[in-house]
Amino acid sequence: MKDRLPPLEPAEAVRYSRHLLLPELGLAGQRRLKGTRVLLVGAGGLGSPAALYLAAAGIGHLTVVDFDTVDVTNLQRQVLHGTRDVGRPKVESARDRLRDLNPHVSIDAVAARLSPENALGLVRDHDLVVDGTDSFATRYLISDACVLAGKPNVHASIFRFEGQATVLSAPGGPCYRCLYPSPPGPGEVPSCAEAGVLGILPGLLGTIQATEAIKLAAGIGEPLVGRLLLVDALQMTFRTLRVARDPLCPACGTGQIRELREEGVACTPAERVPEMTPLELAARMAAAGHPILVDVREQHEWDLGRIPGARHVPLSRLAGELGSLDRAREVVLYCRSGVRSQTAGLLLRSAGFGRVWSLAGGILRYADEVDRSPPRA
Ligand SMILES: [Zn+2]
Repeated sequence: MKDRLPPLEPAEAVRYSRHLLLPELGLAGQRRLKGTRVLLVGAGGLGSPAALYLAAAGIGHLTVVDFDTVDVTNLQRQVLHGTRDVGRPKVESARDRLRDLNPHVSIDAVAARLSPENALGLVRDHDLVVDGTDSFATRYLISDACVLAGKPNVHASIFRFEGQATVLSAPGGPCYRCLYPSPPGPGEVPSCAEAGVLGILPGLLGTIQATEAIKLAAGIGEPLVGRLLLVDALQMTFRTLRVARDPLCPACGTGQIRELREEGVACTPAERVPEMTPLELAARMAAAGHPILVDVREQHEWDLGRIPGARHVPLSRLAGELGSLDRAREVVLYCRSGVRSQTAGLLLRSAGFGRVWSLAGGILRYADEVDRSPPRA
């Protein structure tokens, strides 16, 4: 990707010997890999295999951006991190692992969230981007930054047992907005934490992303431009759909989008309402001026038991019943384990509620810490 390619050191020539044996890649291709700077957004399920294979392949520079810390529930799929890394920033764990894997690769660890403020600068400073995020807002941000900077965007996403991958904003190809003109509404798309995901699935898709990034960097093969690869892990089928550039796309078509902004999508882990512990809740509910407590679970769950003083508005009906809640008061939302109440909290916040809390751990933790008898009406 560079005019002047860096030479390989003898130790690198040995390390990459199986690459050098490939006539399609060879020394020139390996030097192109070394001359390439890749921006990897997200050191999670997709980012893990992508980072490992990009580093192993001898990409010259890798910048890893992630704001999260390693949680034990990540390890079922995020193979970049280990048990001893639990609690560490993911970018630090990633940097250590990648340095150990290949000391010839220069690694930048950016412990931050990709934002409209930093995205364009980061994208411009690299040759291509690998999108390993699970947030719609960040996907639009990456796509718009790649269109503005003219950089290819190696994209993938996963859901339960299925995934898709494509190369976006490459010459002649579509961008993310061509494929998905508008973001889904809050609550329309459950997160991994809510819907679950087969651990190996991001491994499969992240490896496909690394493959495409390596091909682009080395200038070999036919990139996944204008084609959307659909992977079904249960059936083990791979299908390819033709996807075209939309001439009316506000980003890559009409050029209407000239600067970056955050899309209002409520499904990134960074967008959370603050949590209240069960003990805090019990204390607040016993005092004067207590908050409105709303149970957002479904009817059959409510029927089995509830926290005293709660009102019942299932998440599925919440958007339509916002008028019944007093915006001037504090609202505490709870569900079974604290996931749906976050979605509900974001919905309330976007509707203008100023003081919204989610009960940490939901009614399960409440039953554990406050009321050992199953809370029944
Ligand atoms: Zn477009």
